[in-house]
Amino acid sequence: MQHQIKPKSNEPRLTDMAEAVSKCVHCGFCLAACPTYHLKGEEMNSPRGRILLMKEVLEEELSPAEAAPFIDNCLGCLACEPACPSGVAYGDLLTGYRFKHQQPLKRPFLERLIKSLLNNTLPYPYRMRLALKSARLTAGISSILPDAFKPLLQLLPDRLPETVALPSFSPANGERRGQVALLAGCAQQVLAPSINLATIKLLNACGYDVITPADQGCCGSILMHNGSEIEAKKLASKNMTSFPDDVEAVITNAAGCGSGIQEYGYLFKGSSLQSQAEQFANKTIDISRFLLHAGFRPGSLPEAKTYAYQDACHLKNAQKIASEPRQLLKAIPNLTLVEIGDNGRCCGSAGTYNIEQPEDAKRLGMEKAEAIRTTKAEGVISGNIGCITQIKLYVKENNTPVYHTVEVLAETLSSLK
Ligand code: SF4
Ligand code: SF4
Repeated sequence: MQHQIKPKSNEPRLTDMAEAVSKCVHCGFCLAACPTYHLKGEEMNSPRGRILLMKEVLEEELSPAEAAPFIDNCLGCLACEPACPSGVAYGDLLTGYRFKHQQPLKRPFLERLIKSLLNNTLPYPYRMRLALKSARLTAGISSILPDAFKPLLQLLPDRLPETVALPSFSPANGERRGQVALLAGCAQQVLAPSINLATIKLLNACGYDVITPADQGCCGSILMHNGSEIEAKKLASKNMTSFPDDVEAVITNAAGCGSGIQEYGYLFKGSSLQSQAEQFANKTIDISRFLLHAGFRPGSLPEAKTYAYQDACHLKNAQKIASEPRQLLKAIPNLTLVEIGDNGRCCGSAGTYNIEQPEDAKRLGMEKAEAIRTTKAEGVISGNIGCITQIKLYVKENNTPVYHTVEVLAETLSSLK
């Protein structure tokens, strides 16, 4: 049974949302792919159920507040999209819905406080570093803090890396093939600056000059995915002007940032910036896809290793990048790459989900750790700082290291000299 809905206005995004709803034939093929349906076994916590809820809100049959618990509970992992034979653009529906109906909701005080804390720190590396340092001081008094703050403290790294200033220009090694720009990311630059350094090394080794614009900022994806449209637009438009035009590509190495930028056209839909946003999105590419297309061949690791590869949802489902990192990693002669036998289920990170929906995120994190343990791999590789942080938390007990794809690839460069 398909649902046709008539948008109440000509808002461009409303038309897209209505189209997504009307494509759903309620077949249920997406249910098995959905992590929250897996956890809760309830229709309203499945993609099909959420589509119906959003349809009813769009038609003003249901209040946004009634639908909110189920929409809040959605990870935005987009595992439902590739599973859907009808091509329902669930991501567009969810993003548009969150802008229109989730953001204006009046939330309890603590919820608003946490969201405001996240929105005002995560996109800004300096504030984030300061916040993490202050949060470490409060770790000793965590027992007297409200429960809502505890997931934040749990995610604190054992040690905060030293601040690293990235070079604004890093020249190609050997024969020059071109010039690219790097999106440094915000949380990543604070939590794991080694990822950007490894990315620059690989691009230089491939013959590319790398420009890292000093005035770039957060791509806005975290805000976009939690419904903060105006703030996300501010960050996105700032970045669209910070990057030079004379580069072949804008390189991302965090799946969440890459997928957020892919949505810039949708973010600015119907505005004068739409075409510029689409051009910026078209120029942006994940490091694994860029390196593979550039013909990068890795060397060997210092010693033979067996690592498991974890797909980041925003790489695999949102950007359709799954084979590229595997091809690059499998080209390392002494690396055995193993798959995690849970069909690539989300690890529970999902932007700020592990802070805002800690119980379900914990269950997914623990299941992921168990699935990794079963592979007997010596380490885990993923292409997103959010997944890396979440997985680290749950594999800590086994002392299993978690790497970004570029860190492993960059480690092989010394064998090529
Ligand atoms: S698989 Fe697609 S068409 Fe079928 S219920 Fe899910 S979203 Fe709807
Ligand atoms: S985005 Fe993920 S959690 Fe949300 S409905 Fe789709 S599969 Fe389920």
